[in-house]
Amino acid sequence: MNITRRRHSRREFNQFCVTVGLGLSTASSPLRPVWVQIAEERLDNRRRTVKICDGVIVPALGQGSWHLGQGRHPAAAEEEALRTGISLGMTVIDTSEGYGGGRSEELIGRAIAGQRDRVFLVSKVDHTERDYIARACKTSLDRLGTDFLDLYLLHWRNPEDNLSHVVASFEDLRAAGKIRAWGVSNFKVSDMEDLLCVPGGDRCATNQVRYSLNSRGIEDDLLPWCEQCGMPVMAYSPLGGDSLVHNPTLARIGAAHSCSAAAVALAWVIRSGNVIGIPEAGSAAHVKENAVALSLRLTPEDIQTLDAAFPMSSKDKLRVLVDRTRRWLRRSCNR
Ligand code: NAP
Repeated sequence: MNITRRRHSRREFNQFCVTVGLGLSTASSPLRPVWVQIAEERLDNRRRTVKICDGVIVPALGQGSWHLGQGRHPAAAEEEALRTGISLGMTVIDTSEGYGGGRSEELIGRAIAGQRDRVFLVSKVDHTERDYIARACKTSLDRLGTDFLDLYLLHWRNPEDNLSHVVASFEDLRAAGKIRAWGVSNFKVSDMEDLLCVPGGDRCATNQVRYSLNSRGIEDDLLPWCEQCGMPVMAYSPLGGDSLVHNPTLARIGAAHSCSAAAVALAWVIRSGNVIGIPEAGSAAHVKENAVALSLRLTPEDIQTLDAAFPMSSKDKLRVLVDRTRRWLRRSCNR
């Protein structure tokens, strides 16, 4: 009886709030009632963020674009997906000069037109020969329709790359205002140690690497190493390239939180506060599912269940061992 009365009065109260709220709307959002804004701010406070480059804070979940602009989905659907993600707070957008020969950057340029200031834009350069980095950056900026990148990454390290030259090229772009920060991708701990040895190498803002429940190799070395340096990690393929989205364990945990398996996989990736996940989605429906992860808190029991279901693979263990041995040998030779 009491319960019925309370429910009834809450409904009445909500109705009252709607009525009053419409009257109290603020200048920043004239049509949105105050109580809706307060509720949204509370939700915002629960959204995970990560500190990156010189104290800039970004949402812990962004959007990837490796396959976008290449006919996998209609272009309009992909642009809509990106815009939906931005409106839901997934404002870090990751691309590369090489994705679809530049078509991904062009599609992003169309999707962010008129809202560049809402986006933290990341692109990557594939080669490092003389003057290439500056030329590639200009081409990326033209395709993206902007005059600066928030973050520019070296896509991977080739044995012939001169890291001093790479850092100097990035720093020149930074001084010219073409990029706000720079970082690397696919660097192992031994590569990061090399980078820190070159002048200016410590200005590296992040390392973008593969990380997901079924690819946990960085947990034993790179992740703690970056955390110690205060450097966030950007996790690519956080859905395991879609191999996790139909997993029954994830689906069961998702059901308990009223969300999808994909959202659980992403919440797990960004759980530490030092990792930014960049899932790719070609539809607004997928993006909406993924955005839930920004404010999803997994319980210790959830984490335990996931640890048991997704142990580190022997391939990942071997990779860690090889890099550790390489670093040990190098240190021994330098003694
Ligand atoms: P991913 O994000 O793990 O998975 C993408 C796949 O998941 C797509 O097939 C997508 O399908 C599907 N998906 C997304 N949300 C879903 C949902 N809610 N339900 C069901 N399926 C869903 O893999 P990724 O594309 O390999 O990695 C993400 C981004 O990381 C890339 O786009 C790229 O920007 C970056 N990356 C960087 C490197 C590097 O070397 N630095 C390497 C690989 C990737 P739909 O398209 O149908 O939505």
